[in-house]
Amino acid sequence: MVLFLTSSFIPYQEPGEYKKTPPEDCYGFFDDLKKEWPDSANVLFVPADPTLIKDNENQIQQVIDAFEYKDLKVAEVKTLDDNCNDALKGLIAWSDVIYMGGGHAPTQLAFMKRIGLKDALTDYPGIIIGLSAGSINAAYDVYLIPELEGEAADPNYVRFTDGLDLTNIDMIPHAKTMKDAVIDGLRFIEDIVLPDSYGRRFYLVEDGSYFKSKNGKTKFKGVGQVIEDGTISPLKEGPIIPYMGVIEQPVVRALLSEGYDIVMTVNTTNDVCEIYHLDEKLLSVFEGAKLTYKDIFFRIAQRIVDDERDAFVNESDLSFIRDELAERGNFVRTVHIDTPLGRRAKNIRVKEVPGYPDWLLFMFLDVTTVIDHDWMTDEYTRTGFMDRARLFISEISPLGHFSLVYTNVNGFKAVNELFGDKNGDLVIFQTRDVIRQYLKPVIMGRLESDHFVFITEDKNLSEENLKALCNQVFRIENKEYNYEIRCGIFSIHNSNMDVAHLIAGAKLAEKNIKTGKGSLLYAYYDDFMKENYVKQRFLLADFERGLNENEFEPYYQPIVDAKTGEIVSAEMLIRWHHKDFGMVSPAVFIPVIESEGKISVLDNFIVNRGMELIARRAYQKKKVVPCAINLSRVDFYDTFFIESIMERINDLNIDPSMIRFEVTESAYTDLEAKSMEYLNNMQSYGIKILLDDYGSGMSSLSMLEDFNFDIIKLDLGFIRKIGINEKAESIIITTIGLAHMIGATVTAEGVETKEQLDFLKSYDCDYIQGYYFYKPMPEKEFEEVLDK
Ligand code: C2E
Ligand code: CA
Ligand code: CA
Repeated sequence: MVLFLTSSFIPYQEPGEYKKTPPEDCYGFFDDLKKEWPDSANVLFVPADPTLIKDNENQIQQVIDAFEYKDLKVAEVKTLDDNCNDALKGLIAWSDVIYMGGGHAPTQLAFMKRIGLKDALTDYPGIIIGLSAGSINAAYDVYLIPELEGEAADPNYVRFTDGLDLTNIDMIPHAKTMKDAVIDGLRFIEDIVLPDSYGRRFYLVEDGSYFKSKNGKTKFKGVGQVIEDGTISPLKEGPIIPYMGVIEQPVVRALLSEGYDIVMTVNTTNDVCEIYHLDEKLLSVFEGAKLTYKDIFFRIAQRIVDDERDAFVNESDLSFIRDELAERGNFVRTVHIDTPLGRRAKNIRVKEVPGYPDWLLFMFLDVTTVIDHDWMTDEYTRTGFMDRARLFISEISPLGHFSLVYTNVNGFKAVNELFGDKNGDLVIFQTRDVIRQYLKPVIMGRLESDHFVFITEDKNLSEENLKALCNQVFRIENKEYNYEIRCGIFSIHNSNMDVAHLIAGAKLAEKNIKTGKGSLLYAYYDDFMKENYVKQRFLLADFERGLNENEFEPYYQPIVDAKTGEIVSAEMLIRWHHKDFGMVSPAVFIPVIESEGKISVLDNFIVNRGMELIARRAYQKKKVVPCAINLSRVDFYDTFFIESIMERINDLNIDPSMIRFEVTESAYTDLEAKSMEYLNNMQSYGIKILLDDYGSGMSSLSMLEDFNFDIIKLDLGFIRKIGINEKAESIIITTIGLAHMIGATVTAEGVETKEQLDFLKSYDCDYIQGYYFYKPMPEKEFEEVLDK
């Protein structure tokens, strides 16, 4: 559809005084029209008032004359009247051009509505030309200007109503006449139109001027003015953005149906916003102001939660948004807003408006339910749970009757590996169902994978219920798998308790559950755990200070050749001499530091110290043995650290074979492609890679297939069983054989007795690490041992 909205393109004649007259040039209107005109057009005339037969004939004749003068061929003309209902669809299909005539606009609109013209025009492919009233009624939201006597003063006169919805240009035609007009004693522009223009935009245009709308682009030709919010400014020729344009309308409507609460455009050259839609609840925030972009974002920012506000203020800067759009093609953020009903998540997205380079389209969508809802289990997500739990806890009375429970399916990874992800999902469903059945949660959420968290009344936490919950059998086809749901419980005895703190405590309790026959699979958080927890938190907070104050020290544990007892390498193990706690075991602080993603700082320290020692001793021409450094899974996320290792080996001129890295099985199974690439690179550089703690976790033989580990370290748990458990011994024997067959050597870790040593020696174990030969020792002592 091509839409032409004109003030007028035929010279004005009093009805009854018809005389054939050529039209004026009309700012190129006819040339423009010609570009769209078919060889010969069927024209359908929509009169303003079908009962004014004479006037209508007169007007249509003038229009046909104009077309004739301008060489626009007309085949036939038909006129709509009140009897055309049944024929309407056919007539519209027949026509190439629909001409909507001038006259009394309200009368015409009523007529159009009677015959159902609006619906009939949906997807009309031809040309529509409006002339004054016809142009007015083409709008989505029509401004029916009072133009007859009595209309302006009549309080019941309807000024705004829905129109044909072809565009949203509210046009006031015949500017010259209108400027001087007085109706009911009121000046037309000053007293009527200006006050009506608050929150709206009108285009006051002179005869001959016109808007052309095609493919969502609208341009204006001629002379006119924009009247908006009580001010008048010139209307420039060229592209305009209709208050709601033909393209935007369906887009905007679709957006609204998706639940957006603000949809607006922003002119980036002058900061002006056009709000198409505001959720009712938001109206109060924006009420009564002519808003610029800055105003709107200032107001939004005021409501954003504290820890997100600064970032939002920086990133909502228009130039920032523009840059991101240029770079990525979109701009999307989700922020949280506190409302009296709780915290809401708002998704803000910005798009370019096709054809309008100066404008951006902003959309705000409330995604709280989407984000808060875990669609898989039909429970809350972490954020959804936290919000509701916070509210719930603050209102519990009397206190002391509720607890927060965290659950963990023990060995869930194994379930996935054994039965596949899909059945893994079934285990999650089963877990959810038995939690609902036995513990009757009031609020429940899933934190991630198999971990649920919920609040329940203490009376549901009977020993009987808990035991029934904790031991589960998963049945699939004719297989059965026993699994444990472990529960950490935190009783809520204070309405000010932070939910995150409760979850952390319940998790801690769950972690403290001991594995072993007959042991309880649930645990309450208690003060001892708290002490430990506090200590761990403290250590974490204190870690950087400790590093700065040189409290960390690398220890070296020599590793010997099983046959000769000669030192062939060493493992570096960190020690923390804490100023208050004394020596802290890495088993205590490494997991905390790891969980906070700070381990690479520490490992960086170890790597440096190890390299320094090697470089120095090599320079001094003293005996040097390879030193193995433990890498944590998290280290691989610190690409800077990983990549810098090779550089430093180069800088210090170290023989790469003097550096080794140990990765644990569990770390290895989590490694992603990128990390594998690092390992491969290191290896091809001559650095040996060790598989640590082999046999301790979920050993998977495919790991050995995927990566060529140079050395496999048998977990000390196995070594301990030498002489005690024959099965363990068999496993050790075959593992050594297997390692050798795939070209790896074997180190036995934790060798403490002669018996263990003899056994390992007799089955061809290559290297021995353990207290039997050496304990981990400080650097100075290690050097003395090497020097001997
Ligand atoms: P791991 O890598 O398995 O280290 C071997 C652990 O076994 C060390 O404990 C070592 O002292 C101990 N060990 C060695 N021989 C024997 C023995 O004969 N009997 C007994 N009972 N134990 C023995 P440590 O030093 O407490 O380290 C514990 C864990 O902390 C290490 O396990 C490692 O996973 C981690 N760790 C230690 N230092 C670092 C480090 O610098 N970086 C990283 N990422 N992790 C480290
Ligand atoms: Ca190790
Ligand atoms: Ca180990």
